[in-house]
Amino acid sequence: MIVFRKPLTGVERPAMEADVVIVGGGPAGMACALRLSQLIDEHNAKHPDAPLSKENIYLLEKAREIGAHCLSGALLDPRSMRELLPDFEKEAPLDAAVIKESVYYLTRTGKFKFPVTPPPMRDHGNYVISINKFVKWLGSKVEEAGITVFTGFAGSELIFETGRVVGVRTDDKGVDKSGEQKSNFEPGYDLKAKVVILAEGTRGSLTKQLVGRFQLDRERNPQTYGVGVKELWELPAGRIAPGEVIYTMGYPLSFNEYGGAWIYGAKDNTASLGFVTGLDYPDPRIDPQHVLQEFKKHPFIAKLLEGGKMVRYGAKSLPYGGWWCVPPLAGDGWMILGDSAGFLNSQRLKGIHLAIKSGMLAAETAFEAMAKNDFSLPVLESFQDRVEESWIKTELWPVRNFHQGFEHGFVSGMINAGIQQFTSGRGLHEHYPNKAGHLRMKHLNQLPADGGAEARIIGPAKGDGKLTFDKLTDLYYSGTKHEEDQPAHLVIHDTDICNERCVKEFGNPCKNFCPANVYEMVEATDTPSGLQIHLNPSNCVHCKTCDIMDPYEVITWVPPEGGGGPNYEGM
Ligand code: SF4
Repeated sequence: MIVFRKPLTGVERPAMEADVVIVGGGPAGMACALRLSQLIDEHNAKHPDAPLSKENIYLLEKAREIGAHCLSGALLDPRSMRELLPDFEKEAPLDAAVIKESVYYLTRTGKFKFPVTPPPMRDHGNYVISINKFVKWLGSKVEEAGITVFTGFAGSELIFETGRVVGVRTDDKGVDKSGEQKSNFEPGYDLKAKVVILAEGTRGSLTKQLVGRFQLDRERNPQTYGVGVKELWELPAGRIAPGEVIYTMGYPLSFNEYGGAWIYGAKDNTASLGFVTGLDYPDPRIDPQHVLQEFKKHPFIAKLLEGGKMVRYGAKSLPYGGWWCVPPLAGDGWMILGDSAGFLNSQRLKGIHLAIKSGMLAAETAFEAMAKNDFSLPVLESFQDRVEESWIKTELWPVRNFHQGFEHGFVSGMINAGIQQFTSGRGLHEHYPNKAGHLRMKHLNQLPADGGAEARIIGPAKGDGKLTFDKLTDLYYSGTKHEEDQPAHLVIHDTDICNERCVKEFGNPCKNFCPANVYEMVEATDTPSGLQIHLNPSNCVHCKTCDIMDPYEVITWVPPEGGGGPNYEGM
């Protein structure tokens, strides 16, 4: 029997009082903490008689070390960082300024180079970075500024009192596989906060609780997602220049799927290489890790990687849906920012600068509340106005319909994108609707048994060990590690659905879409199908794909014991 992780009941928990608790130490959370500290410093310099304290501001990060769970391409648009720290370019870990971009459409063996780089993909002025090194550096600034960062602590549930969020409960530590307390048991803390700021990244687990409880997705488009599967490669000297950027569309996807690849030349002859597969593909047998492996077999890419070595692996989901999916950003006791809110420009494939800016605006709101000692709803809700009056909206509004334009495939998507380009984002209608991606998945009996056009990317990749890798080999390079003796943090609300219905209807797509081999179907004597779901939770790289793409929505990702997860370096 699988025992799933959930906070224990009837346990006495230590409580701590806080002014502000920020959940998540990615770019949004760190920018929020740093900006809040700056505003408090400015205030205290002006009003030494009425100083504000930073002592009760806490940032929770579930990774063992700051930045260890952060993964992105990554290209940084420096706009918000220049507002946050005007001299950041002198000291931040930036790999290279972008010097060259190219965009290709790939066929099975050929390539077509766009004669002109489409404006959204022009990256001069941006930087190639490793997001996890960058966040580590930003985290050091936050700590120097006097804000307490608790690493190895996940927020496991929100604490509510009469409809207001009044705090966060952190994860219990020292619970065994069967849900019993071990000798090292430590109950989670109840952090009582005047405001909780959710900066958990894509599909944040507390954000999901909040959205569900208050139906914050009402009258919004459902969020749509992609999963980026990434490898870092060391290449022979001179193969790709630091700052060279290559985007591809097409192979190995067909016109039925949304997605594309990036290759960024970084310093020390390394290249970041990855493929984002839209989590709205119809064939449940598609495997996004296999998509990346197949992509590398294309002659253009294989030649680029020849003689090189894969040194790191990871995966992360990203929100594609745009402005129409953004939930209300603030309410009674809470704010939502960054990828948790869905701030990503899917046309430019960039969100870090928006995450940072949203963190800064949340900090201004929290500062106003601290200065007035008024954390009431009207003060916190001013975060919504701050975002709508900022360049976040100016940037996202013209691309509000971009991703939905691809709802019916690549060709109509390109036509829609063209029309939107000339109508300030409007296109053929003011508000393009869309379906949640998992609802587009088809039953196996509606698909060609031989896989059709998708045959090359269905099921697990075998890998040759040099250019291509099977999932477990790739996974080794993510450095992921969890305490083995703990309840499973992938909560399946009804395993009978997996063992009886899904096995027939969709062929258990969790085996395919999980880039870390967490889900397996193993032989069983007591299920009608002769198969049952088996989990390897310690493989999990926290990409959240299963929480998003499961066709029955029976999987919930909850944080494992704090400190567990990938150990990204240079990703
Ligand atoms: Fe991602 Fe879910 Fe697999 Fe973990 S179990 S790696 S969150 S798909």
